Amino acid sequence: MYKINIDNLEVFAYHGVLKEENALGQKFFISTEITLNNSSTSYNDNIEKSVSYVDICNLIVKVSTGNKFNLIETLAETIAERILLEYYKIKSVKVRVSKPSAPIPLPFGNVSVQVERSWHIVYVSLGSNIGDRQYYLNGAIKTMAENPLCRVIAISDFINTKPVGNVPQDDFLNGCVCVQTLYSPHEFLDFLHSIENKAGRKRTIKWGPRTLDLDIILFDDLILSDGILTIPHAEMANRLFVLEPLIQIAPYVIHPVYKCTALELYNRLK
Ligand code: ADP
Ligand code: MG
Repeated sequence: MYKINIDNLEVFAYHGVLKEENALGQKFFISTEITLNNSSTSYNDNIEKSVSYVDICNLIVKVSTGNKFNLIETLAETIAERILLEYYKIKSVKVRVSKPSAPIPLPFGNVSVQVERSWHIVYVSLGSNIGDRQYYLNGAIKTMAENPLCRVIAISDFINTKPVGNVPQDDFLNGCVCVQTLYSPHEFLDFLHSIENKAGRKRTIKWGPRTLDLDIILFDDLILSDGILTIPHAEMANRLFVLEPLIQIAPYVIHPVYKCTALELYNRLK
């Protein structure tokens, strides 16, 4: 696997919190380390299979000179995001921004910040049991697909399922989608909540009827539980209505806690 490295591209720009920095400008040096999606070790001498470093340099210059940020952190994040959004072939990028003339009244060598951003792979479970269930599920997928920070990669069939738990309610329509996203897990949860709210989701009875429920099932191979978010979803291994659509689009995806495939979880539960 190749990485494309660009070291210390020099740009003159106006980032900084001080007025003088915004007025007079200074030199910044920007380095990037780019990893492509293509896991092959050879590009057969074909630029089409790689990414032109000249194009990347031009994009970095455009972002650096076309904005005035207070923080070099923001500059680094913006460059990383623009590179990932512009080039479909790039999976992840590290960006380091150095500011060797930063206004520090002491002798120093350099100041720099580094960020790493990448496309994450997320599996989202969808459910609805009020109103036009298909309309709500399709609407949610459309909203995800229209968000530039998300790419919908795979969509399962929608299946009719009986409600679980003790609340008497109508059957559900359930599905699962695979989405690539630049959001962090909490940003992605906020995004899912905004879609649920737009669909008129009311949180009245726990596990009660809902126009739309969107749950994060897996997020890369992340394991996380912090009171707001639990990933992998705490109940996924106990719910056929989650696993059945999931195995249609990703039978061999690994559950990072149980260390087995979705298909194995499904077979055990069934
Ligand atoms: P449920 O999906 O269990 O029926 P809700 O949709 O009302 O319930 O979600 C309740 C809360 O569960 C959310 O506000 C969210 O903070 C939390 N939560 C924890 N882990 C997850 C996850 N993996 N996906 C979605 N929500 C989660
Ligand atoms: Mg939910």
